[in-house]
Amino acid sequence: MKNYQKPLEYMNNNHASDTLPKYPRIGVVLSSGGGRGVYAHTGFLMALETLKLPVTALAGCSAGALVGGIVASGTPLPDWFATLGKVQRKEFWKPGSLPGLLWRMLYDKGRGITGISDTQWAIEFCRKNLTAKTFEDCQFPFYALAINLDSGEKTIFSEGEIAPRIMASAAIPIVYQPVKINGEYFCDGAVVDFAPTDAICCLHNLDVVIVHHVSQRFDQKKSIDHALTEPWTLLKITDRLLYRNRPWYLSDEGASSQRISSQRCPCGCGAIIIVIEPELPELTWPMTRGGIHVLREAQQQTTELLTPFQAALQTDSRGMFPKVFKACDDNNK
Ligand SMILES: [Zn+2]
Repeated sequence: MKNYQKPLEYMNNNHASDTLPKYPRIGVVLSSGGGRGVYAHTGFLMALETLKLPVTALAGCSAGALVGGIVASGTPLPDWFATLGKVQRKEFWKPGSLPGLLWRMLYDKGRGITGISDTQWAIEFCRKNLTAKTFEDCQFPFYALAINLDSGEKTIFSEGEIAPRIMASAAIPIVYQPVKINGEYFCDGAVVDFAPTDAICCLHNLDVVIVHHVSQRFDQKKSIDHALTEPWTLLKITDRLLYRNRPWYLSDEGASSQRISSQRCPCGCGAIIIVIEPELPELTWPMTRGGIHVLREAQQQTTELLTPFQAALQTDSRGMFPKVFKACDDNNK
C-alpha cells in the first residue's frame, strides 16, 4: 500500500504556510527530450514552484522520468539545480573504448553490443540524486514510462526502486544499453509515447494536467542530407524514427506557433489538459555546457505563459478556461 498521506504542498518545502484558497489537483507530465529535456524540465518545475502551483501526481518519459523521479523522491529543486550546474559528462555517459568496440564489431560481429554507453553509470548518478529510493516513498504519486523489449509492451513503472526504472525509461536505443529489471529488458519509453498523460489523467481526480513537451521535432524541412553535416548524424536518424508521429495533444506541425494550448481530457474525466511547448535553444548530446541557459529559458517561458492563469489554477482549475482553446485554432484569438 502506498503512503501518500503527506499534504500536497509542493515538494515538501517552503510553502506550507502559504495561503492557497484550496488545493487544486494539478497533474504534471514531462515528455522525453534527451539531455536538453533534463534541463528544460527542471526549469519548468522551478517555475511551477515559484508560481505556487502544487503537484498532485507526476508522470514522465525518458528525460521527464529522470527529472520527475528525482523531484518526486523529495530532492529539493535548489539541490538538483546545483547538481546540474556542475555535472560532468562522465557521470552519466561512459561509452566503451573505441578499440574494444571495433574489435567486438569486426571479430565478434557485434555480438552482445546493445548500446554505446553502459547504463550502469547513469543509474548510479540517479541513485546519488534521489532522496527516497522507491516509488512507494515518493512525495506524490510518480510514474515512469518505458518499453519492455521482451514483450514489446508499453510499461508504466509505479513501484520498486526508482533509479533503474527511470534510467530504463531514459535508455535511448543505440546510445544506452537497455536496463534489465526482474529478468526483463527495458528501454526508452519515447518509442511508444512521448508523454504518458494516461498514467495520471482520469486516475487521480485531477482538475488540470500540464504537459511540458520538449521532445525533438520531426523536421520535414530538414533533409537527411542536412543531418549528415551535423554532429551525431546517427542520433539524428534515431530522432527521426522516434519522433515521426506528432502526439495527440499537439496541433499539426506548422499549424500554429503558439507555445501554450488547452483542451479537455478526451477520455472524459473533465480535466483540462494544458500543453506547454517552449521554444528552446539546441543542446547537442552529450554536452552539458549551455544546459543552464536552456533551463532558464524553459523557466522564464513557463512563468510567462502560466502567470495569466495562476490565480485560476490555484482556485478554480476546471473553470479556468471557459472556452478551451487549441493550438491549431488560430481563429479563436
Ligand atoms: Zn482524464
